[in-house]
Amino acid sequence: MFWEREVELLPREELEALQVKRLRETVARALSSPHYGKVLGGKGISPEDIRSLEDLRRIPFTTKEDLRRGFPYGFLAVPKDEVVRLHASSGTTGTPTVVYHTRRDLEVWADLVARCLYMVGMRKEDVFQNMMSYGLFTGGLGLHYGAERIGALVIPSGAGNSRRQITLMRQFGTTAIHIIPSYALKLLETFQEMGLDPKEMKLRMAFVGAEPHTEKVRRRIEEAYGIDAFNSYGLSEMNGPGVAFECPYKEGMHVWEDSYILEVIDPETLEPVPDGEEGELVLTTLRREAMPLLRYRTGDLAFVYPDPCPCGRTHRRISRIKGRTDDMFIIKGVNVFPMQVEQVLMAFPEVGNNYVIVLEKAGPMDEMVVRIEVREELLGGGIRKLEELKERVKRALREEILVTPKVEFVEPGGLPSGEGKAVRVIDRRSEVRGPRS
Ligand code: AMP
Ligand code: ZN
Repeated sequence: MFWEREVELLPREELEALQVKRLRETVARALSSPHYGKVLGGKGISPEDIRSLEDLRRIPFTTKEDLRRGFPYGFLAVPKDEVVRLHASSGTTGTPTVVYHTRRDLEVWADLVARCLYMVGMRKEDVFQNMMSYGLFTGGLGLHYGAERIGALVIPSGAGNSRRQITLMRQFGTTAIHIIPSYALKLLETFQEMGLDPKEMKLRMAFVGAEPHTEKVRRRIEEAYGIDAFNSYGLSEMNGPGVAFECPYKEGMHVWEDSYILEVIDPETLEPVPDGEEGELVLTTLRREAMPLLRYRTGDLAFVYPDPCPCGRTHRRISRIKGRTDDMFIIKGVNVFPMQVEQVLMAFPEVGNNYVIVLEKAGPMDEMVVRIEVREELLGGGIRKLEELKERVKRALREEILVTPKVEFVEPGGLPSGEGKAVRVIDRRSEVRGPRS
């Protein structure tokens, strides 16, 4: 089950020694970039100052703002002609940021992804359908090269075009897919339209990631398709996929610590938080040439599992991502994360696979409306049944988030959804409303 046995099982002490060595090299490389030249140079930090992992804390954090300010070449640490590719983040939270790669960077990245896929049992005999968008987004090409490295047959189907996806699966006997979790649930409707059962495909596993999702959503995917689904975490700034991935135990995602340094901090005080406690993930690249990033604040919230994994890998595990610090919204004075809502909704078998949270101004008060698709079977059951379910959902939500939302039911497939990351919250509170016509 090991792609790089020795590295994956490296005793902690050796792993940390390797991190220190690579951090020193990274600092040396970073000094050639205009941004770090100024920031590290200004503080008089040189590679020789890095003697232990503790020394990392002398380096300032890097933020998305820094990346934007450094656009386009402020973080480039090699001559431009050594760059062979660029990627950009999807820009869900503002203008996109750009990341550059040398040829060697792309090789290291592909190897990290291969390590993830091999870990959960993908082999050269597999037929891998990559249903993520190809292009500037890293999900497509990232998994593509990792899977090719293993020697699997890769179908670069890209995102969207649901009927064609299913046809390809049937024609080529796809065994593994890479898919956004909300789209995996959406695709079930197309299976139904085509009169097909996903369980009749040759599928055996899915790699799901790119957006927050709850354990319950994973279960729904696994049950509907009759497969194993593994959580995959990454971000463009750290290459993309291949940063952290679940092992067969499906209890947290191993962060490849020979390639990244992981810190978890309190986003307010910026102090480290102990294992088991939730905080913001901060990552440092250890092997990247073109664009090393030091102590990058990801904005993603998770915790580190304190105990070692039964699989034997020594690389620490992070929990499922609760969301980004900026996913949190405040309603009636209470802080809410969309995943708290999802957690409650998906516990109801009657609730369908899609939902959206709408925040509105209702007079002087704010109102939270949760629109939920319900299952087909429920629609024939009469109004009373629906009302009764609505009450139960409302109550369960209030227990979790301490606010009573308005709950609205929509028929299956009735909510808008795309092929990319799902939009879970629509905040209309600052919109100026015209008179109703
Ligand atoms: P991008 O750089 O556009 O690929 O977006 C990266 C962001 O997507 C991360 O910072 C996370 O917020 C989110 N993300 C990626 N993978 C996951 C995952 N497995 N679970 C939750 N969020 C994820
Ligand atoms: Zn493990």
